[in-house]
Amino acid sequence: MSISQKPSIGFWNPKTETMPRAQLQALQLRKLQAMVHWAYDKSKLWRRKFDQVGLEPRDIRTLDDVQLIPFLTKEEFLRAQTSAPPFGDTLTVSPELALRYHQTSGSSGRIPLRALDGRKDWEWQAEMWAYGLYAFGVRPKDVFFVAFGYNVFIGAWGIHYGAEKIGAMLVPSGTQSSETRLKLIKELGATTVATTPTYALRLAQYAEGMGIDLVNESKVELLICTAEPGANIPATKRTLENLWGARVGDFVGMTEAGTIVAFECSEQCGAVHIIEDHFYEEVIDPITLKPVEYGQIGERVMTSFGRGMMPVLRFRTGDLVEKVESSYCPCGRTFDLYKGGVLGRTDDMKLIRGTNVYPGAVENIVREYKEISEFQIVLTREGYSDEITVQIEPRPDVGEERLHYLSYELASDLAEAHEGLRFNVVITDPGTLPKFEHRSARLQDLRM
Ligand SMILES: [Zn+2]
Repeated sequence: MSISQKPSIGFWNPKTETMPRAQLQALQLRKLQAMVHWAYDKSKLWRRKFDQVGLEPRDIRTLDDVQLIPFLTKEEFLRAQTSAPPFGDTLTVSPELALRYHQTSGSSGRIPLRALDGRKDWEWQAEMWAYGLYAFGVRPKDVFFVAFGYNVFIGAWGIHYGAEKIGAMLVPSGTQSSETRLKLIKELGATTVATTPTYALRLAQYAEGMGIDLVNESKVELLICTAEPGANIPATKRTLENLWGARVGDFVGMTEAGTIVAFECSEQCGAVHIIEDHFYEEVIDPITLKPVEYGQIGERVMTSFGRGMMPVLRFRTGDLVEKVESSYCPCGRTFDLYKGGVLGRTDDMKLIRGTNVYPGAVENIVREYKEISEFQIVLTREGYSDEITVQIEPRPDVGEERLHYLSYELASDLAEAHEGLRFNVVITDPGTLPKFEHRSARLQDLRM
């Protein structure tokens, strides 16, 4: 059954999820105009930003006019907060109307970003999660285990209320130990587990130590992965799927959005759908700040139509993505997608002969080749020209002839994803490359 034939169930609405693009864009424009008016009238920060460029809400007449709105950066968001503590001048209404407080982790000495949400915001945020969870296959019959420590981290709460909205039976495991969690997962017959990809791996290791066979002794069918990349990296996804005997879904959210912006649907086409009736997402070149085409990698810029207490317009996320058209996924949704999820961060970007190269994107392409067991990216300077070389270590059972084509195919795939940039692909002998524990160690920049 295609999704357009399924009945509408409140939070999950085929009428918008399969809406023709022209209609969807008309809806986006109406929502954008409403949010722009609201932000300009009620938020000091947004009034100031609009005034600085001489922009008024009525100037937003088409979706392309979104480009007239100044970008919002994370630094600016934080500065607004620190100059008028504790919440800054972004708010549209009195903090007394807030229902929830959340913040980013503030790890490695960074100032945490504070977020306040009113009742309407909060209901909307749970709805976004419900959209994604339902699309991936969560249903009222599910026993939904939340393996997060909750606290001020917004993601766990969004998942919790989203799953509750669907009508699943919630198990809020909070600060329980891994052992207790695993016992409960088994005894309650949990069918869905929400966690970070890293913790899903660790839980599987614990289970092995406890003699629990997750594949045969647990009823877990779905792993909801969020808060960090992992479920979007084919190798990690496969590992998790084998360890748990479950489908593994990638959900892209952030505190600035207050919820998820994109989700993996049950077709698992290798991309995440953008919730386009609630967000307007642009992809820009992080250097020129101009929009890039479909199929080109750039920085995600997010505009939310739903967060009213703390409006977020044209927020530069620093996430690298490649947008593809909705037809990329066979499910029937008309929402565009990000192929491979979030591919990396703009901070990791390297400039090679005028082309932006993202190590995360290179990794995603290399990982599509099962014949490759390990790889390394090496940047060198020959005269005035920068060279990029991908050293690959094939698995021992790959034949001579296949190796020849493999390096050719990989070089061509890499060039295609990077505006035709030439990559040197060098095959190394088995066992010669180190086993990298951190992704960042795979890149060696020798240009000095
Ligand atoms: Zn889909």
